[in-house]
Amino acid sequence: MEKYILALDQGTTSSRAILFNKAGMAISTAQKEFQQIFPKDGWVEHDPMTIWSTEISVATEALLKIGGSWQDVAGIGITNQRETTIVWDRNSGAPIYNAIVWQCRRTAEQTKALEDRGLGKMIHEKTGLLPDPYFSATKIAWILNNVEGAREKAEAGELCFGTVDTWLLWNLTAGKVHATDFSNASRTMLFNIKTLDWDDELLSLFNIPRSMLPDVFPSSHIYGYTDPKLFGASLPIGGIAGDQQAALFGQCCFEKGDVKNTYGTGGFLLMNTGSTPYFSDKGLLTTIAWGLGGKIEYALEGSVFTCGAAIQWLRDGLKILDSAQDSEYYASKVADTGGVYIVPAFTGLGAPHWDPYARGLIIGINRATNKNHIIRATVESLAYQTADVVSMMEAESGLKVPSLRVDGGACKNDLLLSFQADLLGIPIERPASVESTALGASYLCGLAVGMYKSTEDIKKNRAVEKIFESEKDTAFREQRMKKWRRAVERSLGWAEE
Ligand code: ADP
Repeated sequence: MEKYILALDQGTTSSRAILFNKAGMAISTAQKEFQQIFPKDGWVEHDPMTIWSTEISVATEALLKIGGSWQDVAGIGITNQRETTIVWDRNSGAPIYNAIVWQCRRTAEQTKALEDRGLGKMIHEKTGLLPDPYFSATKIAWILNNVEGAREKAEAGELCFGTVDTWLLWNLTAGKVHATDFSNASRTMLFNIKTLDWDDELLSLFNIPRSMLPDVFPSSHIYGYTDPKLFGASLPIGGIAGDQQAALFGQCCFEKGDVKNTYGTGGFLLMNTGSTPYFSDKGLLTTIAWGLGGKIEYALEGSVFTCGAAIQWLRDGLKILDSAQDSEYYASKVADTGGVYIVPAFTGLGAPHWDPYARGLIIGINRATNKNHIIRATVESLAYQTADVVSMMEAESGLKVPSLRVDGGACKNDLLLSFQADLLGIPIERPASVESTALGASYLCGLAVGMYKSTEDIKKNRAVEKIFESEKDTAFREQRMKKWRRAVERSLGWAEE
């Protein structure tokens, strides 16, 4: 009887569970959306008990769908929304506050104060991150400072902090294991990515007791076993990685210079930089890709704030599309954008421009411009923004990107990927399974439980559904990128008073 790996993919809007076989094929999937809690403008929370209960229910559902039993599961891999912060009572296991979600901006002032005190450089050198409310440190501090009695309990060693992986692991093992992996630890802004330990200077800066923090292990590692009362079986939990790092692993980006891009609501590019952490002074983040086989591998990360969300805007804002998929049909009705450029800087621009005051623009309109040009220019804007980050990654690392491996909702758009190939002049590879994130967690666990012997073994599973090759020359690329940059320049600083 073939054994499966159960991948728990705990995302921002839904909890998912996928059973993978050894060949890396998704055999069964279950998914449940859950409530987003917005207590105040810019605040985002989740109920930790809902995160746990939805994850367990989808895990059970995925197994029931194929009439399987827990004996068919060789192990569990976890991948999760990153940075989201949960604090709970070590004795009762009860959370003392809701999960503060990565998107939550409640600690914007505290973060700005770090910059004002000139601490940005020290934080970047130690953690690879730039001060931002995204990361867990200021969220933990907020809970300790704002929940009654929390500070005293924390000082007395009675509280645990965890990102979502840690919370799930704690519950799966009925409170026996309080641990995380290197990739998740590297998103807290408390972990020194060179010494590979929680950093005392940062802990004291944020006033966070070390006793709250989980133990940190490699991403492929037997963390513990599920409590038998849960599934009637004691299953090993053998893999953990944050969602973007898991996607990098699922895409088999095992070599230095390998890059994946996720075209989701936002865009996330990660480049494997091997055993060397490259520090960028142009706004790329340095992060731990994974710990594996006694080694740490690092990644450079750049994000595009508005990626697939620009297509959503065509559908829900402008209402010129019925569905996101239709964008390809309309965009293909015209040979090009007729000189129209759209910069979807709806919430400012990230790397390489870093301008919170940039706003969206449509430029180059003339009397011949029609709806199809606007749609095509929006689709192309995803590719331009991605190209900007890729060239910055090459410049900052000195590594040449050989090809781009893609996933995420908008990667189904062939026109987008063809144009991406034309702009970058490298092949764009779309895998047969675009479930890279869950697949990465499954592979990490599969290595720990002996289903795979090595990453070479995993690579044999890699199936590319389609490769998009560039059909344009350098002159085309240069001309288009030049024009795009002129459009971007005009969008900068617009919202500034
Ligand atoms: P999330 O970031 O929420 O995980 P997904 O990876 O599911 O997002 O991708 C959803 C995004 O992809 C949406 O913003 C949607 O507009 C976009 N999208 C989905 N299908 C297409 C398509 N065929 N062409 C362009 N964009 C698409």
